Amino acid sequence: MTVKLFSSSSSFHFKFLTFFSSKSTLNPLFSTNILLSNNIQIMSSTSKSDQNSRLSSSKSYLVPSLNSDEIDRITDETFRRYTLSSMKRKGVGVAIVWFRNDLRILDNEALYRAWMSSEAVLPVYCVDPRLFETTHYFGFPKTGALRAQYLIECLDDLKKNLMKHGLNLLIQHGKPEDILPSIAKASGAHTVYAHTETCSEELRVERGVRAGLQKVRRQTQEPSGKNPLSPKLELVWGSTMYHTDDLPFHPTELPDVYTQFRKSVESKCTIRSCFKLPTSLGPLPRCDLDEIGGWGCVPLVDDLGLHHEKVNMGMCFRGGESAALSRVNEYFWRKDLLRVYKETRNGMLGPDYSTKFSPWLASGCISPRLVYEEVKRYEKERQANDSTYWVLFELIWRDYFRFLSVKYVNSLFQIGGPRKVESIKWSQDRVLFESWREGRTGYPLIDANMKELYTTGFMSNRGRQIVCSFLVRDMGIDWRMGAEWFETCLLDYDPCSNYGNWTYGAGTKL
Ligand code: FAD
Repeated sequence: MTVKLFSSSSSFHFKFLTFFSSKSTLNPLFSTNILLSNNIQIMSSTSKSDQNSRLSSSKSYLVPSLNSDEIDRITDETFRRYTLSSMKRKGVGVAIVWFRNDLRILDNEALYRAWMSSEAVLPVYCVDPRLFETTHYFGFPKTGALRAQYLIECLDDLKKNLMKHGLNLLIQHGKPEDILPSIAKASGAHTVYAHTETCSEELRVERGVRAGLQKVRRQTQEPSGKNPLSPKLELVWGSTMYHTDDLPFHPTELPDVYTQFRKSVESKCTIRSCFKLPTSLGPLPRCDLDEIGGWGCVPLVDDLGLHHEKVNMGMCFRGGESAALSRVNEYFWRKDLLRVYKETRNGMLGPDYSTKFSPWLASGCISPRLVYEEVKRYEKERQANDSTYWVLFELIWRDYFRFLSVKYVNSLFQIGGPRKVESIKWSQDRVLFESWREGRTGYPLIDANMKELYTTGFMSNRGRQIVCSFLVRDMGIDWRMGAEWFETCLLDYDPCSNYGNWTYGAGTKL
């Protein structure tokens, strides 16, 4: 059996096999012949995993590996660098910020616009029960316990940082389209600001919120027509490094080939600067929140119907903007790893071969523009080389998949993908699929990666390419089963990058 990688590679580390691979028993039926693009051929031993696997090493790494004092110090220092004391607000009344996948206060345009347009800002997060239901086709948990725990840490940190800046975070359990209109009514808010999303489930929620806010207007309209509340939803774009309005084409005209997209944006667009922070984001509105249930609190994993187990081997990511800023500091400045990123990025073991920014980018704890500005600062203060550029090159991949989701909408999630391929006959063999999912295919490389994913919520880019290729090309299994299992497990799950990469691997992308 041959596993072909579908993207270029440079260095490749197999050390990790000592890490997540199981104790194996030989099975003459299986042999994996892995072809790397640099023409190294690796014959894995013909083996079948023992279900009661024993790990040969059980080291765990906190990412970032700094203590909480250091994290606080780096966070405060970064906030200070982005604070502009001369900022003046010009608005009236109350504005709501609806936090979604933008769990940060730095470079957050929704928060900035809410502050500017009001005298008081009310930050809100809705714990949407639909996030804890099941995946679309195959019924896996939509959010696994590790990502739920990670989200909780992000919310804890967001609340803490908002409080440091004179605000707080109102947390309610329920659908945003039910919650936001009642909060808008209770607070008398004129606008709900939020970041827009691009995929159908999120867009449906946006439509629901807009309709709910219109109802508030009708409910508060007096016969005299005087002073009705008319809260609006104002959506802003903020998930990519290049702003959608700055693209040299409409997203529906996006080039289908990545290189064309990259060359076009690199030559014709500039990256906008990060939004600055005022010294204080307060005050909070003076309205009575008791009638809508008060401030609420950050949930526990158990409240979400999940059971969290501590990660005690491999990487353990900390959620939140403070951890994200600290990871940038650690990777770029303390460890000086940005200098060699291009040579190390295809590794598989430990926290240092690549940036590990993806979980924080996916939850919006850090903006790609802030990463861009840090790369530029590093290039000015230390050095610019192929590695410093390559982080931006990878972030352009992330942008590309986000814009692709605007162009291809739901076909990204359908079996034929954007190409609407009908010629491939996919299998949904559960036994084969389970062996892949549980990391007991008998191929140490596949099994180690799948166990890492389940145990930590993370897998290297090269690992993802290999297990994807194995599932779709060698096992012939419906790629959506793999994509949905990744959706459950990944801390960095993002529909655009996940389904975009899977359709790429399955050969269904254009
Ligand atoms: P680095 O190598 O340090 O790269 C820096 C950043 O660039 C990453 O944080 C990420 O935001 C971006 N990036 C790098 N490669 C890609 C890529 N191929 N596609 C999109 N963005 C990229 N990434 C996700 O963020 N969420 C997903 O749900 C996701 N699912 C994937 C599924 C498959 C089958 C494959 C092959 C890849 C997937 N990726 C996904 C892309 C990539 O594997 C991860 O972004 C990367 O491994 C994260 O590690 P890092 O932050 O250390 O990356």
